[in-house]
Amino acid sequence: MPRPKCCRRIGGEPPCRIFKPAGIPRVVLEEIILSMDEFEAIRLADLEGLYHEQAAARMNVSRQTFGRILEEARGKVARVLVEGLALRIEGGATEMAEKRTFGCHQCQHKWTVPYGTGRPAACPVCQSNNIARAEEERGVGRAGQGCRRNASRKLE
Ligand SMILES: [Zn+2]
Repeated sequence: MPRPKCCRRIGGEPPCRIFKPAGIPRVVLEEIILSMDEFEAIRLADLEGLYHEQAAARMNVSRQTFGRILEEARGKVARVLVEGLALRIEGGATEMAEKRTFGCHQCQHKWTVPYGTGRPAACPVCQSNNIARAEEERGVGRAGQGCRRNASRKLE
C-alpha cells in the first residue's frame, strides 16, 4: 500500500486500512470510518500511553481538541467491537494541517508544500522570490499558527 502523499505528524501508519469481522461479507456490514487523526489519537494515548497534553503537542492540536478526537475515536472503535462492524481508516483533517499554502505576488500562482520541507525559496512557476504564506493573507494566523488553528477548526 503506498504511503499517503503528505506525511502529517503521524508516527505510525496503520498496517492495514480495513478491519472487518471474519466470515461476514463486506457488502452487508456497516462500515465505520476512523480518520487518520482519530487513529493517531488512539495510538498516542492508548498504545504509547502519553498524557493528553503530550499527545496534543505531538499532533499539533490543543488539549481540548485532542480530547475530543480521542473520545470520538474510542467511541467508534467500541461500536465496531460491540456491534460487530467493519472499520476503515482513512482521511481526516490532519492531512490538511500538514500542508502549507504559498502564493506568488508576481504571477498569483498558489501551491502547497508538505509540512517540514521548509519555506520554498522561489515560485515554481516564475522563479520570483516575492512569495508569502497564503494563510497569512487570509488572516488565519501568523506563520506556524495557521495550521494549528485550521486543524482545530476543521475538527469542530
Ligand atoms: Zn510566480
